[in-house]
Amino acid sequence: MNIKHLLLAASTLLQAQTLYAAAAPAPVEANEIAPGLFLVTGGGGANSTLLIGPDGALVVDSKLDPESAQAELAVLDGLYKGPLRYLINTHVHPDHTGGNEAYGQRGAVIIARAETRAILAAGQRGGPPAPAAALPTMTFDSNPLTLYINGETVVIRPLPAAHTTDNNLVQFVNANVLQLGDVFSTSRYPVIAGGTFQGFIDSVDQALALANEQTRFIPGNGNIENIAALRGWRDMLIAVRGSVAALVAKGSSLEEVVAAKPTAAYDASFGSNERLLPALYQELRGAQ
Ligand SMILES: [Zn+2]
Repeated sequence: MNIKHLLLAASTLLQAQTLYAAAAPAPVEANEIAPGLFLVTGGGGANSTLLIGPDGALVVDSKLDPESAQAELAVLDGLYKGPLRYLINTHVHPDHTGGNEAYGQRGAVIIARAETRAILAAGQRGGPPAPAAALPTMTFDSNPLTLYINGETVVIRPLPAAHTTDNNLVQFVNANVLQLGDVFSTSRYPVIAGGTFQGFIDSVDQALALANEQTRFIPGNGNIENIAALRGWRDMLIAVRGSVAALVAKGSSLEEVVAAKPTAAYDASFGSNERLLPALYQELRGAQ
């Protein structure tokens, strides 16, 4: 290997390291968004929240893997010395349940839809069954479940099948915060993984019906948002559905729908429509 090759190898290595650094998740970090209520960002996986106070700790969503869950628990331990009482899952996907076991092992009652438990127990996406300590120990179905803890009223509300068939919102009534999981995003189009596009609209309407002008909304990923952002998300859903429905009504094929760029006005904000358009097309064709 001559010097030129060595330099080339070194620069490739540097590039690889830079890429790796860019891909590594941000550190787990808790920011207080209301008294005793923290938004926990970073690590692998989705946004998580933490409610602490004299009655104990409650966590919503457990991040992607044991390492990220342990990092979140370390943050919790730095804030608070009392018992960990509850973990709530907004839905079954690994970036929201992958850290469940660590919370179960710490004694948390894990609350989720019965369907969430069934999927985890069977193994998700062809994977192995989740460990016993990761399984929900308290389940609910079509009715909301309410917890009274630390002076807060926490209502877990099942949403229509939208992102998944087991998606819920978590309402912190006094803090006036709604945690919406993956039925709300400011950076990607709806991901329909079992639910429907219409379910996204219905879910947003349900969230808006619980809200006022001061309510804040936590998406699955990204920053906490105000009601204008959630309304903007709804406006996008309605506009995209309208554009695609008009093409479907005149008999366009999926290829013609894609070629017509019906999401062009929103692509800069929400990225690729590659997965959205076939799903929405099928759904609207089915509704005809
Ligand atoms: Zn998800």
